[in-house]
Amino acid sequence: MLSYRHAFHAGNHADVLKHFVQVQLHLYMNQKDAAYTYIDTHSGAGVYSLDSFQANKTAEFETGIGPLWNCTDVPAPLKEYLDLIKGMNPSGKMRYYPGSPWVAEQMSREQDRLRLFELHPADCKILADNFRKLDAHKAEQGERSRGRRVMIEHGDGFHSMKALLPPPSRRALVLIDPPYEIKDDYKRVRDALDEALAKFPSGIFAIWYPVLQRMESRQFADRLKRLPAKEWLNVTLTTATPTPDGTGLHSSGMFILNPPYTLEPILREVMPYLVRVLGKDAGARFTIEKGAQVTGAASGRMVGDTPRAPVGNARRASPLSGKGSLRLPGQSMPRADEAPAPAAKPARAGGPRNATPRETASPDGAPRAPRSATSRNAASRDGAPRDANPRTPRSSPARPSAPGAPRNGRNRQGGREG
Ligand code: SAM
Repeated sequence: MLSYRHAFHAGNHADVLKHFVQVQLHLYMNQKDAAYTYIDTHSGAGVYSLDSFQANKTAEFETGIGPLWNCTDVPAPLKEYLDLIKGMNPSGKMRYYPGSPWVAEQMSREQDRLRLFELHPADCKILADNFRKLDAHKAEQGERSRGRRVMIEHGDGFHSMKALLPPPSRRALVLIDPPYEIKDDYKRVRDALDEALAKFPSGIFAIWYPVLQRMESRQFADRLKRLPAKEWLNVTLTTATPTPDGTGLHSSGMFILNPPYTLEPILREVMPYLVRVLGKDAGARFTIEKGAQVTGAASGRMVGDTPRAPVGNARRASPLSGKGSLRLPGQSMPRADEAPAPAAKPARAGGPRNATPRETASPDGAPRAPRSATSRNAASRDGAPRDANPRTPRSSPARPSAPGAPRNGRNRQGGREG
């Protein structure tokens, strides 16, 4: 059963991380004139109204785009993302938030192709309506529509991605952003990537994932590091210490296979700022790590010589109210006095193929001990119950086409739709 609706979660801190990275990936792809194919395996509705019932049920956008909206000191790369959202809200009031298909539509060029997949019938319809309205608007303005360069399909994105690879232009950016409502999603992501890399080893694949206490989540990033991609980059954003009852989504990551060389320095510039602005307490932090595949021996590298400390202190002291963490019973809360992150060790022969050095930094500027990808800040995108998926959708119509509110369903964490 499909219960996840992104409308309940649109604009939260996980969306900020994901869409900011997505914008940067498009900017990199746009550096060459040659067309590329953008594949969105889990598209959602495309545009979300932050005025909707779904968005306001838990007001998750207040953990993400809300605090950023009026910031005037935003680092330039983050401003590219913020400007895109402001462009959807010309009145200056924060009313609409883009989904990944909308980000792609805005960031790609006329020659690029968008291949969008969505399994939920209602969200798929809203997505199609949004693009229809956009086309009608463009026609009114005398602009060319993308026509067949945008394809929206009601179907299984994991399955459909395979048939599109390699793309005609041999250039592709793939976003994989499942609800993780079911444990199987973690395995399906890995299996799909295994197949995709076999067909198209040079594609850029960006995978969003929740950082939760559940085993699948804890092992997920480490498993992605073993995929046969030449290089990988992993960034996580944690906005708060998990609460004792283990609900809520406080931490998420973007894992990029074959990342552009431009991305890491940009993350180093922007992540401390995001921690400062979105951080709720001393548990707020980011991590950046990267690695390369080395046949026969593991290799891991620190992303830089020294961890770059985030700027400033967490602004708020209170944890996300009403959302729990997904910490398992018996697991301890993060400590403020964790040791500095050790330098990455060279991987040993016979060890994992892709070593994964980690760099973590807290909002107060103190480097922290590396944590396991799974350990502390668990939260579902929508604060759903522990094993529910980590994202909670909010439904919301898009401005171009105000999508109807999602009907029923639970969010990634078990949050109900409407
Ligand atoms: N990528 C979107 C964004 O950033 O705006 C959000 C996507 S939302 C987190 C996940 C979506 O995947 C949901 O709309 C859900 O209905 C859809 N979904 C779940 N399983 C799917 C599958 N196997 N194939 C395609 N879509 C799926």
